[in-house]
Amino acid sequence: MKIIEIKKINKTYGTGKIEVRALQDVSVTIQQGEFVAIMGASGSGKSTLMHVLGLLDRPGSGEYFLNGQEVSKLSDNEWAVLRNQSIGFVFQQFHLLARMSALDNVALPLIYGGDIRLKDNARLRLKDVGLEDRMNHNPNELSGGQQQRVAVARALIHDPLVILADEPTGNLDSKSKEEILGLFDKLNQEGKTIIIVTHEQEVANHAKRVIVMRDGKIISDKTSTPLSNNEKNLVIPPTQITNVKRNNMKFLDYTNQAVTAMIAHKMRAFLSILGILIGVAAVIAMVALGSGAQESIEKQLSSLGSNLLVVMPGSSKSHGVSLQTGATTNLTFQDADALSKGSENIDRVSPAVSGRVQLVYGNKNWNTSLEGSSTNYEQVRAATPIAGRFFTDEEVKSRSKVVLLGTSVVKQLFDTENPIGKTIKINLNNFQVIGILPSHGASTFRDQDDTILMPITTAMYRVLGKQYIDDIYVQARGPEFVDPAQDDISRIIERQHHLTTKDEDTAFQIRNMSDIKQALESSTKTMGMLIGSIAAISLLVGGIGIMNIMLVSVTERTREIGLRKALGANNKDVMTQFLIESILMSLIGGILGIMIGIGISTLITLAAGWAVKVSIVSIFSATIFSMLVGLVFGLWPARQASKLNPIEALRYE
Ligand code: ADP
Ligand code: MG
Repeated sequence: MKIIEIKKINKTYGTGKIEVRALQDVSVTIQQGEFVAIMGASGSGKSTLMHVLGLLDRPGSGEYFLNGQEVSKLSDNEWAVLRNQSIGFVFQQFHLLARMSALDNVALPLIYGGDIRLKDNARLRLKDVGLEDRMNHNPNELSGGQQQRVAVARALIHDPLVILADEPTGNLDSKSKEEILGLFDKLNQEGKTIIIVTHEQEVANHAKRVIVMRDGKIISDKTSTPLSNNEKNLVIPPTQITNVKRNNMKFLDYTNQAVTAMIAHKMRAFLSILGILIGVAAVIAMVALGSGAQESIEKQLSSLGSNLLVVMPGSSKSHGVSLQTGATTNLTFQDADALSKGSENIDRVSPAVSGRVQLVYGNKNWNTSLEGSSTNYEQVRAATPIAGRFFTDEEVKSRSKVVLLGTSVVKQLFDTENPIGKTIKINLNNFQVIGILPSHGASTFRDQDDTILMPITTAMYRVLGKQYIDDIYVQARGPEFVDPAQDDISRIIERQHHLTTKDEDTAFQIRNMSDIKQALESSTKTMGMLIGSIAAISLLVGGIGIMNIMLVSVTERTREIGLRKALGANNKDVMTQFLIESILMSLIGGILGIMIGIGISTLITLAAGWAVKVSIVSIFSATIFSMLVGLVFGLWPARQASKLNPIEALRYE
């Protein structure tokens, strides 16, 4: 029964001038149960032949029948299955994975074909090679001979058609050498086909057939102990590639391999995790800070009331250097009246004055800002009292000494005491506290709750001594009426004060609060975009860090990749393993980053008192994004790893 038959195999290394014909028209047939030694001087092509036989390297030309099936035209993936199931390769350098126990090393091929649950088989194989008491030791705790026995056990895990051993005793002392050769003798007696490369006659003496090579050609082929008829007639069912069941590696196996690799390179994994961690933490904290700021700005904007226009005397252009000498209008109650009656586009009008006053309650003093207004203030400025009541039209008419306090003023003067009904002194006059104004929050510039409010008449004639109104708040009937209302206001004020169009520019000004709102909103939007782009850049940097580490990892683990491929891993297996590794790293970085980001945000709130708002969206997107970073930046290194040719990868130093 022919196990291996090759016809006219050629293999040439290099192109152009320095061309090495490592194999020249090599043809050979090997029967089931044979023990063949391949001998020859160094460089004669022995290893090249073994690599071709072991499906580790593709020949330039020729035919290869493995167990009766032509395999030289099969795909890489089909070769991976054959390497995994039908061939047991033993290397001179053992090629065990350093950070895995002997048992895990023997079980490694099970991951790529078969079932990792068959680990018991790995135990049996280790017992077969006499290492049942060393199963849980890592390779560096084993002698060379023991390591090679582990490698033989690994080669046997899938009960292969043939064992290929390239100078398996080349790195061993004479005692270990005898152990390994004894092992091969035993396996051969049990019916295993064995092909062994050696340059030592005493090793070759164990074989029943010796093939000698020189310059890529077979120059002699002698059988010392011919196979018995029994042995010749042994029939094993042919392995049909199409029938070979290949269990796909399961997700857990991949993850397991990735975690093992990360644990094996703790520092490296930590550093790449750190990159993503800092990026994500920065994103979370910055976005939290940004949306906190945005929220407080929005709150302040809402305190302005909606669809609001403000009429003020003087010109906005008079700030700075203005040489215009137009008349400045003094606003009066008549103006306010005219505005509220003169336009359909206007809903409410609220005249206002302001100034600073000194408050006294008991032994407490406080300097604050005062606003005087009409009762319309409550609607126009969204200022319904949170306790007590607003003043009435009667109280405005009679210049009553009643006052509403902002929350900060309450805190300063009354602390926890209820202020409603109490009497305070304002610039030495007694006032009754009738209500508390709603909180509008502290802006970056000033505390909007550090204020008091009273009837405009009281403020003008009893407290501030003003003759004219400072400004008139005008509320349009709706957002679409703001612009027409503005035109109406100009027209009415001009008529009231007999202004010419020439005066218009300097006499008074109208501020459109909707415009201000829009400006503020667009500036917060710009801030948000800025924060977003900084965050994206930091994640990008983190991602490049991961790619860097993964590339280093691929280079450093080239031999590991080669070995995994030699044991039956296909491109997809290698790629998936590396991808999962990088996704896992960035995901861990992402999750830690989220926690640290939330921690930083909380600290900022506690320490600086800034409004900070951690959003679910930013947590969610940071997680997804960090996984994507792992995927995208891991993709290239993973592809590089998967494309490696097994034998070149194994030879990599
Ligand atoms: P042996 O195992 O008998 O010592 P090899 O099969 O390793 O010999 O090598 C056969 C010839 O091919 C040698 O001349 C060697 O230099 C050459 N060779 C082997 N591998 C490569 C390679 N990857 N690139 C170029 N030349 C190679
Ligand atoms: Mg060699």
